[in-house]
Amino acid sequence: MNFCPNCGTKLSSKIIDNSSVKTCNSCGYIDWDNWVNISCVVAAYTDNDELLLVRLKGKEQGKITFPGGYRELGESLIQAAQREFFEETGMKVDQLKLFKTYTKDEQRLVWIVYRGKVKKTDFIENSEVSEVIFIKNIKDISPNELRGKLTKQLLDDLNV
Ligand SMILES: [Zn+2]
Repeated sequence: MNFCPNCGTKLSSKIIDNSSVKTCNSCGYIDWDNWVNISCVVAAYTDNDELLLVRLKGKEQGKITFPGGYRELGESLIQAAQREFFEETGMKVDQLKLFKTYTKDEQRLVWIVYRGKVKKTDFIENSEVSEVIFIKNIKDISPNELRGKLTKQLLDDLNV
């Protein structure tokens, strides 16, 4: 950021609390350079206690992870979770309860994870997901199919 979002003055560099920040000498605004993207993620269970996972298309083709994605401005976190869940699976999730949060600074990413209930209905084809998978145990999938560290961590934390 080069100009103050409050008053438009050119920002200048400063060190505050050992962090290199940009400040506005006119109104005092500080750009802490600590923004992150919020991704709302859902661990959805069926009535039979199966966990729903998705297999990705695109540049991570074949990898398995949880449904979810970036919150859009104006949405609540739960709305974002439900929208992303529907976009990727075609199914509805409800009874969402906050489970845990994760941060991954190298990607400026925060995961907000909800647990919820899903009624198994038909998967609806979409651009991000090739199939929906229901598992009872982590042994139902191969470790090298997992998308990344957060996916593995969340499976562990859910005691799958
Ligand atoms: Zn300013």
